Amino acid sequence: MKANLIEIPQGVQVGVRYQVNLSGSGWLDWAEDGAETGNSADVMPLESIRMELTGSGAEQYDLYYRVLQNGAWTDWAANGAAAGVEGAGLRIDGFRASVTVKGAGVPADPVAAFGSVDPTRPMIALTFDDGPKTSVTSRILDSLQANRGRATFFMLGTNVNNNAGVIKRMVEQGCEVANHTHDHKYISKISDGEIVSQLASTNQKIAAVCGVSPVLMRPPGGYINAHSQSVVGGLGMSAIMWSIDTRDWQHRNAQKTIDTVLSQVKDGDIILMHDIYSTTADAAVVLIPELTARGYQLVTVSELAAYRGGAAAGQKYSQFR
Ligand code: ZN
Repeated sequence: MKANLIEIPQGVQVGVRYQVNLSGSGWLDWAEDGAETGNSADVMPLESIRMELTGSGAEQYDLYYRVLQNGAWTDWAANGAAAGVEGAGLRIDGFRASVTVKGAGVPADPVAAFGSVDPTRPMIALTFDDGPKTSVTSRILDSLQANRGRATFFMLGTNVNNNAGVIKRMVEQGCEVANHTHDHKYISKISDGEIVSQLASTNQKIAAVCGVSPVLMRPPGGYINAHSQSVVGGLGMSAIMWSIDTRDWQHRNAQKTIDTVLSQVKDGDIILMHDIYSTTADAAVVLIPELTARGYQLVTVSELAAYRGGAAAGQKYSQFR
């Protein structure tokens, strides 16, 4: 685990420190301000965490955090209290944190605001590659917002700074920001160092605009082999493929995209589209309400994974049944 505060208001002296509880090891030492703690060499689950603000800013702000464990989000913990169940061998699958003005109370939760997940009902993940492109992506976000749905955006590092507003909006709506390399490089055809720099530079750009560093990547062209997959794993990331390929980039025909999805869709699918074509937005604004009406919960890939066995670093997934 690593954590950093970003966008600190001018004149505020504040940092963050954090402590993790690993199954079998108990509480490790505190780490602070971006230093890594945990044990990436071992498979023992991370069971619970504690966090708190440091410096004089700790008198002005509260730090709230909660974890996704055993398919459900815990209540918010704050200012050094433990979040997560200890001693039961339950792994933390997700994490949210929020800094609020002292005494302002529990932060608004984007997941709750956009509808919680019912694990007994069907769910699918809509995914969009190669963007964002604000004119297209914002139409997709409008439809997701109106239908209380979420999606995952595998974006290119080259598109991040020019579309910062729409990326912030993704996070505000509970959507997932994810990594499609910086320059659409085929990772099975470049060196290990280039893979790391393509993924890390994109994660850093995304984190700088929205505060979230992606944990999922999608290999451009779908090209990935065992070796490049292990390099992805070294960054703590999972590779996400798809189970329905709309080929929207090729035919640029909204009706064809709609028909492809509606004729094949089933519980646990990951659907591949590209949010750089207006025809894809035309299809998405039909598909999002229609899939919702058919009873599918539109969730992020990480949410889908969390309810269906999880996603491990260095592994590759094309659906979660
Ligand atoms: Zn692509």
